[in-house]
Amino acid sequence: MTTFNQSPLIQKKLLPTSTAGSLPKPSWLAEPEALWSPWKLEDQELVDGKQDALSIALHQQQQAGIDIVSDGEQTRQHFVTTFIEHLSGVDFENRQTVKIRDRYEASVPTVVGEVSRPKAVFVEDAKFLRSQTKQPIKWALPGPMTMVDTLFDDHYKSREQLAWEFAKILNQEAKELAAAGVDIIQFDEPAFNVFFDEVNDWGVACLERAIEGLACETAVHICYGYGIKANTDWKKTLGSEWRQYQEIFPKLKKSNIDIISLECHNSHVPIELLELVRGKKIMVGAIDVASNAIETPEEVANTLRGALKYVDADKLYPCTNCGMAPLSRQVATGKLKALSAGADIVRNELLLQASTIS
Ligand code: ZN
Repeated sequence: MTTFNQSPLIQKKLLPTSTAGSLPKPSWLAEPEALWSPWKLEDQELVDGKQDALSIALHQQQQAGIDIVSDGEQTRQHFVTTFIEHLSGVDFENRQTVKIRDRYEASVPTVVGEVSRPKAVFVEDAKFLRSQTKQPIKWALPGPMTMVDTLFDDHYKSREQLAWEFAKILNQEAKELAAAGVDIIQFDEPAFNVFFDEVNDWGVACLERAIEGLACETAVHICYGYGIKANTDWKKTLGSEWRQYQEIFPKLKKSNIDIISLECHNSHVPIELLELVRGKKIMVGAIDVASNAIETPEEVANTLRGALKYVDADKLYPCTNCGMAPLSRQVATGKLKALSAGADIVRNELLLQASTIS
């Protein structure tokens, strides 16, 4: 038997693979290997083009043997700003350049009044993905703190107050996504790795407000960012041991979040930090998105074996460190296949162990 007795929503095999979220877009839809790349199509052509790209991203994951599939974030320009731009109270033409993640400058929308969600943002896209596959699907939304950190607030003038407003809005969207058949809703919170005091004061609490009453599984993704220069330069300043997770794990362990998605491969995160969240399901990043070098299956397997010392096998989900939007299609495909092959190696080892014990 390869299935485990877990959530009735997802009858899954041991070590089910998934990605953190984004995949490269086709070059006819947007300039590849870039963030915030403008669309190349307009009007109905853009609507159709996004759906076609979503189908391709799904196929790419299926061909690589990925178990929990996503939309590859093909319908959004950016994982945070696209969601924010669909809200009222936000002026997305009045963009401001601000420093985000305490690290690099980005052109972001401005909050000019009370924020609300006039209509669903991604629900139609999720229904479309659901109609294309019977595999478990995961849908990523930005987390409240990361949203607050990716805009210019000219109205609330309080990061915490605005985060609570976003948490309510995210909860509305998440409930509709769950009703559309999404199995796991993931909130992306790279800001959790930067603003520890805020995470512990209100960041995790806002996240719990965002998942309140959800019928599906929930995840939070906390990483060291896309493989762009600003992030790789920042990583060089973090020293030989990256202990950021240590600041936030105790609070996360006590939270209602089901799954924590982390950057592990090629990072300087001491893997034993995972002990601090033992009991949670962990998406273990076993693919480096900041390098074009494609991991060998054995490298992936090694990272997973290291994590297995601190994560029970039925709670380990092999994953990528972060999104792969800025990579080339060829590199991303190679990395997806390596992830599957590496997970296969360890899955077989575990099954062999189980059969020798019984
Ligand atoms: Zn990430």
